[in-house]
Amino acid sequence: MSKHKVNKQPADATRCVHSGEDRHGQSAALTTPIAQTSVFVVPRVEDLRRYAKGDSDMYLYSRYANPTVTAAEEKIAALEGAEAAVATSSGMAAEMIAVLTACQAGDEIVSMLDIYGGTAKLFEQVFPRCGIKTRFVPHHDINNAARYFSRKTRMLFLESPTNPTLRCVDLTALCELGRKRKVCVVVDNTFATPVLQKPLELGADIVIHSATKYLGGHSDLTAGVLAGSKKWMDAARPVMILTGGCLDPGCAYLLLRGLKTLDVRVERACRNAARIAEMLRQHPKVARVYYPGLPDNESHELARRQMKDFGMMVSFDLRGGGRAAERFIDSLKLWYLAASLGGVESTVSYPVLTSHTGLSAKQLKLLGVSAATVRLSVGIEDSADLIADLEQALGKS
Ligand SMILES: *Cc1c(COP(=O)(O)O)cnc(C)c1O
Repeated sequence: MSKHKVNKQPADATRCVHSGEDRHGQSAALTTPIAQTSVFVVPRVEDLRRYAKGDSDMYLYSRYANPTVTAAEEKIAALEGAEAAVATSSGMAAEMIAVLTACQAGDEIVSMLDIYGGTAKLFEQVFPRCGIKTRFVPHHDINNAARYFSRKTRMLFLESPTNPTLRCVDLTALCELGRKRKVCVVVDNTFATPVLQKPLELGADIVIHSATKYLGGHSDLTAGVLAGSKKWMDAARPVMILTGGCLDPGCAYLLLRGLKTLDVRVERACRNAARIAEMLRQHPKVARVYYPGLPDNESHELARRQMKDFGMMVSFDLRGGGRAAERFIDSLKLWYLAASLGGVESTVSYPVLTSHTGLSAKQLKLLGVSAATVRLSVGIEDSADLIADLEQALGKS
C-alpha cells in the first residue's frame, strides 16, 4: 500500500480497502490477483540455498506461503494491530494451530465454558488424546478464573461476546491474569471483528477468527486466521505448514474481497441489530432479549469499554417456549434458517438443535440457553424490511 504510507495510522475503513494489497511495478493490478499455483519456480540453486538457510522470503510451495494468502494475512494483521498473521483453512484449524503452538502433552488449558460449540468439543474430545486437558470456567465464576489455573496451565482461551447469549468478559482483566501467570492468552474475536474490538491492544497474545463469518462476510468461503506478535506467528507458521491447515489462494482472494467492505458491513449491521433489539425488547411475545447494546444488559458497561459498537448478533427467548420458537422460525420469509453467521444475509439459528445440541438440561442452564432461545445474525438489508418480517413471524409464534 505504498501510496498510503504517508498516513502512518490509517483508520480501519482505509485498512480494509488497502492494507496488504501489493500494487507496485508497471501495470500493477489494482486488485490482488489469485496466484493459482501449488508451486513456484526457483531462479537458481543459489536462491534455494538462501531459502534453506532461512534468509529469503521467496515463495516456494503454496502450503508454506502464497502471495494471495500473504495479502489476506497482511490485511487482517493490519486490522488487528498485529505484527503478523497466519491464514488457515478454517476457524477450527486456527484453534488447533494455536493450541499446538502454545501447548504440549502434560499441559493444561483454562477456557471459558461459554465458547463456540466446536471449540468446546475440540478441547474435550480431541486434545485429551494428545495429553492436553482443559479446565472450563463457567460464566458466573469468571471473576475467579485464577482458581482454575495450575502449574501446568499454558493457555487461557477466551471468547467475547459469547454464543448465543452475547455475554462479554473483561478482556483487559483476564489478559492481565494470563500475563501474570505467563500463559498464552488466546481470544476468539469472530463475533466482534477487529472493527469493533482489538484484543491484542487489550493484552492478548493471539487473536483467532473463523474468517468464514464476518471477515469473509458473504457466506461463500471457509477460512480461519491467527494474528499476533512476530514471535508467536513465527512459532505458529511451522505448525500450520506441518499440520497442513493452509488456506487455498482462491479462497484467500474471496477473503480479501470480502474484507474490503468489512467496516461498512459492520457499521450497517450494528445499526440494524440495535433497532431490532429495541423492537424485540418491547414485543409482548418476547420474554428476554440478549444484546449488549441494551442499557439493562449485564454486559452493557463492559461492552461500552472494550468494543466500538455492540455487535451484529441478537438473541432472544420467546414467551411461548420451544413450540413458539419453532413456529416463529418457520414463519420467517426474509430471514433464512442457517447454522452459520456473519454474512450479508440476515439468518436465524436455533441453538438447542445446532451449536448446543446434545447438551444436558444442567449444561444448558449454565450456558443460559433453552428451547425458547433464538439467535439472529443480522445482515445488511434494510432494517424496516427485517423488522417487518420478524414482527409478522412473531405474530404467528
Ligand atoms: C464458526 C466459529 C468457529 C469455527 O470456525 P470454522 O470456520 O467453522 O472452522 C470458531 N469460533 C466461533 C466463535 C465461530 O463462530
